[in-house]
Amino acid sequence: MDITLKDVSVTYMKNTPFEKIALQEVNLTIKSGSIIGVIGHTGSGKSTLIQLISGLILPTNGTIKVGDLAWSSKRKNLSLIRNKIGVVFQYPEHQLFEESVEKDISFALRNFDFPEELIAIRVKEAMKQVGLDYEQFAKRSPFELSGGQMRRVAIAGVIAFQPKILILDEPTAGLDPKGRKEILNMIKELHQSREMTTILVSHSMDDIANMVERLIVLNQGKIILEGTPKEIFKEEERLQQIGLDIPDITKFIQRLNQKINPPIPLDCFSREE
Ligand code: ADP
Repeated sequence: MDITLKDVSVTYMKNTPFEKIALQEVNLTIKSGSIIGVIGHTGSGKSTLIQLISGLILPTNGTIKVGDLAWSSKRKNLSLIRNKIGVVFQYPEHQLFEESVEKDISFALRNFDFPEELIAIRVKEAMKQVGLDYEQFAKRSPFELSGGQMRRVAIAGVIAFQPKILILDEPTAGLDPKGRKEILNMIKELHQSREMTTILVSHSMDDIANMVERLIVLNQGKIILEGTPKEIFKEEERLQQIGLDIPDITKFIQRLNQKINPPIPLDCFSREE
């Protein structure tokens, strides 16, 4: 399911003194099955973009298309889309409440009246995909787990629905460096193991730049850069102008080179005069 946004704008509280343009004339295509990163400061429009794609809010102007379904500012029954998109919001572990990991992961499936046999299969599968051993964790209270493990439980609850598109909002927020690395590796494996479009939203370039195929840089509601990480990093100066963290370029290339063959020459990031 390709995702296409055409001339999309979102204005909150339109025609009031609090009117706020959150997204402005955004044009974007996200190819089915790809893994992309959306990056930008707080207030740049990232959450608005996620909510638009997942059909939780409507655009003020423009058209959104996900797979065969297109919609604009007019209200439409978007439940079909919502079923195909899994959103892992920030700090998803705050939503955990059941007495066991197994019950928490199956909560939404049960609410949607999935048959018990299917629920059991889906829970086991989802736990495997997020790297939680079923025998070891299924019966434990989620509240006894580490922050990273709790986040895996929350992510498992979303992927148990087998969404076609998975959106993760700041998936590493609040985790220590080891936990961050583990969650990012897990997301990468998850993406590779399933035919699923994955959208990672972050304010940290360092976290996601070396694991996505394309990056979208949002600033004040507009896409200011879009391309492969290699293309984006050529625009170092522009990124610095808006004050986005850029990891040490050399380190970044070295990490990228571990995954890309043939490697990128180190001087490719120097700006042309
Ligand atoms: P980000 O996720 O990048 O932090 P948001 O999409 O949350 O950005 O916000 C974009 C802009 O829209 C910000 O200026 C924010 O204050 C404003 N905004 C977001 N949600 C609302 C809302 N429900 N009502 C009014 N303004 C909002």
